Amino acid sequence: MVFAVKFWGVRGSIACPSPRHVVYGGNTSCLEVTAGDHLIVLDAGTGIRDLGDSLLKRDVRRAHLLLTHVHWDHINGFPFFAPGYSPNHTFEIRAGHLGPLGGIRAVLSGQMGQPVFPVPLEAMRSKLEFMDFQAGDRFTLAPGVSVRTAPLNHPNGATGYRLECGGKSFCYVTDTEHIVGRPDQNVLGLIEGSDLVIYDSTYTDDEFTSKIGWGHSTWQEAVRLCRAANVKKLAIFHHDPSHEDAVMAAIEAEARASWENAIVAREGMVLELG
Ligand SMILES: [Zn+2]
Ligand SMILES: [Zn+2]
Repeated sequence: MVFAVKFWGVRGSIACPSPRHVVYGGNTSCLEVTAGDHLIVLDAGTGIRDLGDSLLKRDVRRAHLLLTHVHWDHINGFPFFAPGYSPNHTFEIRAGHLGPLGGIRAVLSGQMGQPVFPVPLEAMRSKLEFMDFQAGDRFTLAPGVSVRTAPLNHPNGATGYRLECGGKSFCYVTDTEHIVGRPDQNVLGLIEGSDLVIYDSTYTDDEFTSKIGWGHSTWQEAVRLCRAANVKKLAIFHHDPSHEDAVMAAIEAEARASWENAIVAREGMVLELG
């Protein structure tokens, strides 16, 4: 059974299309997960525009969209997701922290409201199903695909995901801030024994000291958590826009020297799990 992850956007905070961001990529968070016959999209940052075009070309008509949270860099691509406008498509959209705030539909609709965007959510002619859950819930997304979730430590809240299919598992843990010297038990519980963890590595440990309270973590904390939880492979993710290609290459070399199972996520990269 196919179980694979493709990175359509790996950047945090804001898209950064520049000649200095071409190796690792400038689009914000968006992953495509193929789990058997099912397609799952994680986050709707600017990377989802190219994914949408790819889904149209491949004639994929149904997908699940799981959102970690709704900060701009995780939803800004949604109004440019072309299959959303096609009446032949169906998308189930879930978020885990918005129930008390009116729900995911209201937030995505607000993003597409005048005067900040001219095309309303109602112009999306695909069948859109919105579902709110509470971070910490477990559910079955599709036959053979189960999901565990956990609350993350992030301003306005965020949800971490663990997807399991065919005896393999991978976790998507962004955006989240750690407390130095106190490993996040919610994260450890979610990622325990996982085959692949994608983790918010916006900063280095050196940079982190001046970024406390900003809601993000470091690649070094990712390595510490993955080692403690017997994770098989780590993908460093949510790169800071100020980390141009040369900086990312240095981080990649240092991270690999620190732990041989660490890699740096790049736009277009595919990781096979099954
Ligand atoms: Zn983010
Ligand atoms: Zn965020």
